[in-house]
Amino acid sequence: MNPEKKGINTICTHEGGVEDVLFKGATSPIYTSTSYAFEDVDVKRYPRYFNTPNQEALGKKLAALEHAEQAMIFGSGMAAISTALLTFLQAGDHVVFQQTLYGGTYNLAVTQLERFGISYSFTTGWQVMDFERELKDNTKLIYVETPSNPLLTITDLAGVSKLAKSKGIMTMIDNTFASPINQNPIDFGIDVVCHSATKYMGGHSDICAGVVASSKENMERVYQTAICFGGSLSDYTVWLLERSLKTMGLRVKEQNANAAQMAAYLMENPDILNVHYPGLESHPDHLLAKSQMNGFGGMLSFELSDEVDVSQFFKQLKLIKPSMSLAGLESTVSAPVTTSHALMSPEDRQKQGIRDSLVRFSLGIENIEDLTGDIEQAIKEVKSMQVHA
Ligand SMILES: *Cc1c(COP(=O)(O)O)cnc(C)c1O
Repeated sequence: MNPEKKGINTICTHEGGVEDVLFKGATSPIYTSTSYAFEDVDVKRYPRYFNTPNQEALGKKLAALEHAEQAMIFGSGMAAISTALLTFLQAGDHVVFQQTLYGGTYNLAVTQLERFGISYSFTTGWQVMDFERELKDNTKLIYVETPSNPLLTITDLAGVSKLAKSKGIMTMIDNTFASPINQNPIDFGIDVVCHSATKYMGGHSDICAGVVASSKENMERVYQTAICFGGSLSDYTVWLLERSLKTMGLRVKEQNANAAQMAAYLMENPDILNVHYPGLESHPDHLLAKSQMNGFGGMLSFELSDEVDVSQFFKQLKLIKPSMSLAGLESTVSAPVTTSHALMSPEDRQKQGIRDSLVRFSLGIENIEDLTGDIEQAIKEVKSMQVHA
């Protein structure tokens, strides 16, 4: 059966499990061996060869979810991203990164690539022409993130992949923020899809993992690099990730709905200045988002008015927790200026439109009234404290 023909929740539940031949149990048995027979076997298995029964089976589920021919699971999102980048880039090559890049990937670019003789540029915006402007004769790769962190900008996937194909350049995306439920970049011509499975795929804030998905040909190359760098994931966690993925469709659907309702609520709140959410009609790229996403995601960001101090606001929240990470079942907020974008200069932050009062919001699955109620009481509390100060 062609997995692309199945519904997304069917893929999440059924695709790529390890069949329990012995006892016919409902879930995949977990194979923890690091030692497998090597004589008279078709496949020589070893955890760092990314081919234990659980790794192999989960790879099939992930490939089906991303409409890819093959996928591999890594020990973290950064293990996946770094292995993929160093597979397709070599000394003398140039790579164009989208300006609004995940902090860890930005760090990888600026601290590691030059040592390998790989040069790079950052775009000044996220329009197709911004990517085109940075291309050089030796550009081998364009790297995009959409929706981006923390302003939820949208990059035209079909536009960027068309530009890249016309020049024989490869494209790679970090699809973490969207999750495969909301966006399948391969359908728009993107070559390689990376994920931090620590986020929506794991979804319960208890797994650190990463994914690379692409064509069979590309994945053969990723594989050869991966077994050298050794960033494989323990089979215990592979198993836990398989379990988590079964409910990804349900979780993300709820998170999408909560984000949409929260965005509408924040738009009406006089103490909130700007709301960044691709699902809002007022988002500058709402129509583009609609054309390439199946849902607008569970992430949004907003600015508090000058009357409401961000750190005071965080202290007054009772249900929503300030946190570095995102995409869990529980709602979390972070201030990019003190977390993900703390190392960036104030000028660079200003250039990107990241204000000190910006709050990034990862919507969980709680009841929406409890979440809006928490925002409301926290703002009220901060304002009354300021009056009495
Ligand atoms: C968290 C994250 C990563 C890195 O993933 P790890 O699992 O922490 O290594 C990469 N990209 C995005 C967008 C992320 O949110």
